[in-house]
Amino acid sequence: MIVDLQNISRSPRQFDLTFQPDWWREGSGDIQIRGLEGPLSVQLTVSRNGERFVMNGRLAGKLRLVCDRCLETYRFSLSRDFQLSLALPESWESVEEETELKIEDLTVGFISNTKIDLDDIIREQIYLALPIKSLCGNTCAGLCSRCGANLNQETCGCSENSGHPAFLKLKELQIR
Ligand SMILES: [Zn+2]
Ligand SMILES: [Zn+2]
Repeated sequence: MIVDLQNISRSPRQFDLTFQPDWWREGSGDIQIRGLEGPLSVQLTVSRNGERFVMNGRLAGKLRLVCDRCLETYRFSLSRDFQLSLALPESWESVEEETELKIEDLTVGFISNTKIDLDDIIREQIYLALPIKSLCGNTCAGLCSRCGANLNQETCGCSENSGHPAFLKLKELQIR
């Protein structure tokens, strides 16, 4: 969805958006997200501050993610509040100076014109909301490093005759 910020004035403009699962397109190198599980709701307010635009947003929905350990898909509840400051070329210099002077808790996005694609911004925020370690559960047993069996679902017996128990911990680490 393209929004022209030109039309945004000092008084905030509110967007209430809902994205259906078919909105999600897999990106290149996108191995963690399988898609949306149900609609994603996005609330956005955008206001103008001189040559800059301030965006406050809230994302809520469910994603289908791949577990790092067992490679199965699981449901992840996504909720993220974010604030972005979008700077037009006229103010790039001043923004750079400011951000060097004080570290703000505000992400600055540099835009080359006032027409922005909300889809891109939301997509980026979804990536930023992903867990560093994607696990279907804290107790996920993962895959057997020998036979590839999903140890959440079956016991394969490999570990019973695989040497000294002290090394089992090491094996676990290797498959992560
Ligand atoms: Zn898992
Ligand atoms: Zn096995």
